[in-house]
Amino acid sequence: MKEYDLITIGGGSGGVATARRAAEYGARVLLIEAGRLGGTCVNVGCVPKKVMWYASGIAQALRDAPGYGFAEVAVRFDWATLKGRRDAYIARLNGLYAGMLEKAGVELVRGFARFVGPRTVEVGGARFTAPHIVIATGGHPLLPDIPGAGLGIDSDGFFALEAQPRRVAIVGAGYIAVELAGVFNGLGSEVAMLMRGDRLLRPFDAMLRDELSAQMQEDGIALHFGTQARALRRQADGSIAVDCEDGRTLEVDALVWATGRRANTDRLDLAAAGIEADAKGVLPTDAWQNTNVPGIYAIGDITGRAELTPVAIAAGRRLAMRLFRGEADSKLDYENIPTVIFSHPAIGTVGLSEEAARKRFADVKVYTTRFTAMYHALTEHRPKTSMKLVCAGADERIVGAHVIGDGADEMLQGFAVAVKMGARKADFDDTVAIHPTSAEEFVTLR
Ligand SMILES: Cc1cc2nc3c(=O)[nH]c(=O)nc-3n(C[C@H](O)[C@H](O)[C@H](O)COP(=O)(O)OP(=O)(O)OC[C@H]3O[C@@H](n4cnc5c(N)ncnc54)[C@H](O)[C@@H]3O)c2cc1C
Repeated sequence: MKEYDLITIGGGSGGVATARRAAEYGARVLLIEAGRLGGTCVNVGCVPKKVMWYASGIAQALRDAPGYGFAEVAVRFDWATLKGRRDAYIARLNGLYAGMLEKAGVELVRGFARFVGPRTVEVGGARFTAPHIVIATGGHPLLPDIPGAGLGIDSDGFFALEAQPRRVAIVGAGYIAVELAGVFNGLGSEVAMLMRGDRLLRPFDAMLRDELSAQMQEDGIALHFGTQARALRRQADGSIAVDCEDGRTLEVDALVWATGRRANTDRLDLAAAGIEADAKGVLPTDAWQNTNVPGIYAIGDITGRAELTPVAIAAGRRLAMRLFRGEADSKLDYENIPTVIFSHPAIGTVGLSEEAARKRFADVKVYTTRFTAMYHALTEHRPKTSMKLVCAGADERIVGAHVIGDGADEMLQGFAVAVKMGARKADFDDTVAIHPTSAEEFVTLR
């Protein structure tokens, strides 16, 4: 049986980051990956999603161009060409990941790992042992249990689409649902969203939700709140009939389920190591990423906490520092994690929504603005930009910063540093604006 200092199960965002850092600090590391290196983010998540978001943005820029004096030209978009180029880019990234691991001295074994004891895992009959084992196996999309559900696809299926469907239904109200809806719509598909509740992006600040709903509708996306797909039927012409709970039937060429994900724990044989998971397969962890079994840690989506790539990476790197560089206090602070939703327009957000802040603090003051970004002064398409600063206490510490509008995706990272450092409204006021930009509005709010 081969021995290591650390075994990471899963070669996605969290597993690769942990393995590389640990190897850098001198640990003998084995990484086990069942699928493609890079995990969800690289293969069926952030990266191909952002490529599609860019494509949809280019389509919008072409529609905006006549406002800037460009004669209208007929351009043809070919989904299959984009998919081919996107897949090739991702294959390059897969190769880069393999190269990075090799360079770092991390050993790679391909296959599904399962526990055979608290210190030992098995892959295809071979056994490996280490005093420290990190579980970073992520999750996969879930399909609901309704008749014909399999006629729809999930987000993995979205990335496998070889041709652009003309009419699409998206089921779900989370960030993946709104992002995919925006991509399809921007590229010219007819889009309907089905949402069980009465709003999209439920945990986010109301300003972001309301502005996005309004803009999506303005851009021609049909938002059906308070309903769900009840059954899917294949029609004689190949289309899909979607029978909804409210009695409506939609006819579409594709339906995407974006209704939730499940943790990848089922094949790990956790019981063999005595590891506890909850009913959803999520592994509860403490602040140090420890599971209930000493020496076994969990990071990333499998922990059900802030399911984002940089979170998995940050937690993994800090764990490696703690285990192999003697930094006993090294752990991730899960407060004030900034995030972007690649909707149209994009959303950037950090800290507490106004609603959450009012529950936590007695003294909350909010500053908002809503305007048309200068780029749209000359375009026919005129989405609004909205911003909000949520401040708490007499000294107006900024506990939330939210923006929806063009450029929000690149705007928020720097402001997130300020929020994390405990900036006050007065610090924002004291910062000279950069003109003319949308971001300057954040430091001129009154
Ligand atoms: C459509 C979509 C869009 C997203 N967009 C963004 C975004 O814009 N920004 C962002 O920050 N996050 C985004 N995310 C979330 C992000 O992809 C995840 O948070 C991130 O990938 C989690 O990393 P991880 O290491 O926990 O798991 P993963 O990246 O999922 O990696 C887990 C790996 O473990 C492997 N594995 C599973 N079981 C076993 C086993 N038994 N043995 C061996 N290997 C195993 C899997 O094959 C996989 O490669 C998106 C997700 C989706 C689905």
